[in-house]
Amino acid sequence: MIDLHSHSTCSDGRLAPAELVAAAAENGVKTLALTDHDTVEGLARAGSAAASHDMAIVSGVEISVTWQRRTLHIIGLAFDPESPALTSGLAGIQASRLERAERTATKLEKLGIAGALARASVLAGEGQIGRPHFARLMIEDGYCKNMQQAFKRYLRPGKPGYAATEWASLTDAIDWIQAAGGIAVLAHPHGYGLSGAWRRRMVAAFAEAGGDAMEICTGTSKAEHVAVSARDAREYGLLASVGSDFHAPEQHWLSLGGLRPLPGDLTPVWQDTRFRTMA
Ligand code: AMP
Ligand code: MN
Ligand code: MN
Ligand code: MN
Repeated sequence: MIDLHSHSTCSDGRLAPAELVAAAAENGVKTLALTDHDTVEGLARAGSAAASHDMAIVSGVEISVTWQRRTLHIIGLAFDPESPALTSGLAGIQASRLERAERTATKLEKLGIAGALARASVLAGEGQIGRPHFARLMIEDGYCKNMQQAFKRYLRPGKPGYAATEWASLTDAIDWIQAAGGIAVLAHPHGYGLSGAWRRRMVAAFAEAGGDAMEICTGTSKAEHVAVSARDAREYGLLASVGSDFHAPEQHWLSLGGLRPLPGDLTPVWQDTRFRTMA
């Protein structure tokens, strides 16, 4: 079983890298990519944890990108985690995350949530701070009853707790990943709330910018999503990737390695010559 999209406490996931690896092994995953938001911090820990399970880790990252005033996520796979081009690019995004967190906290404090930045920072620990940490605060304080509601009412664009930021450009993200020897993958193409026309525009722009692959099967993909994405991948000549986007055991609607099969005519990313697991 293979799963090429997952999160740990190094970003907005709830399991530490070693716990994530154990949970994946428990589910029968043999090849796992840890793809934290804008950081490669957890890879070494995941790699050493995998040694005590019958499992291999693929280096991964999920880079935040701004394209056409929208946020997209570009996954890097099988790169050198020490590549200076990649790590300096990620350092810039990490600075934007912190600065955005300060503006988010100011907005939430106006809504009555005292000490939002300090409290979200505690929840994030040493990991990259993100909107899900603020969502957890709002649930704790009784502003909403779950993450979905926190995003819908407060943290989405246009809502009172949303602070916009400029992430990496699409071409920069792809270039950093490829400069590090990796494969650039367009994450969850159905996860951006785009119309069909905009989704195709996005896939075309990604392919045009030199992107390599797109996710066809995610933890929440319906059969028709797989069919539509497979058509996009064929049309734009992209490789196919699969990943649950696991964040937490509480997400009972998805599981590590719980993925639909890839349509047989697509070329999986793991057949690409650049694809390798960590030593
Ligand atoms: P950020 O990168 O800090 O803007 O946070 C984005 C993250 O928030 C995503 O990677 C998801 O993990 C989470 N997220 C986004 N939208 C929702 C939602 N509607 N419900 C729950 N979690 C969400
Ligand atoms: Mn996330
Ligand atoms: Mn994502
Ligand atoms: Mn993700």
